[in-house]
Amino acid sequence: MSTPAAVEPRTAPTTVPVPVVSLRGLLPYWIFAGIVLMLAIYFVGAEEGATSVFAGSNVHELVHDARHLLGFPCH
Ligand SMILES: [Zn+2]
Repeated sequence: MSTPAAVEPRTAPTTVPVPVVSLRGLLPYWIFAGIVLMLAIYFVGAEEGATSVFAGSNVHELVHDARHLLGFPCH
């Protein structure tokens, strides 16, 4: 007859407090996300021709499929 494996004594489950972040604490992240989103919308929607920041059409070609996917006029 084999001996049973050692069983550790059961202990009561411990509770771990969930960290709560206030809306004011999230404000810098929301601002950063908004800036990144606005830059993305600019480069997808308006980086072309007279409104282009970078010369040439490299940025336009890079985001060309996204432009059509989002319904921005292109060609
Ligand atoms: Zn196009």
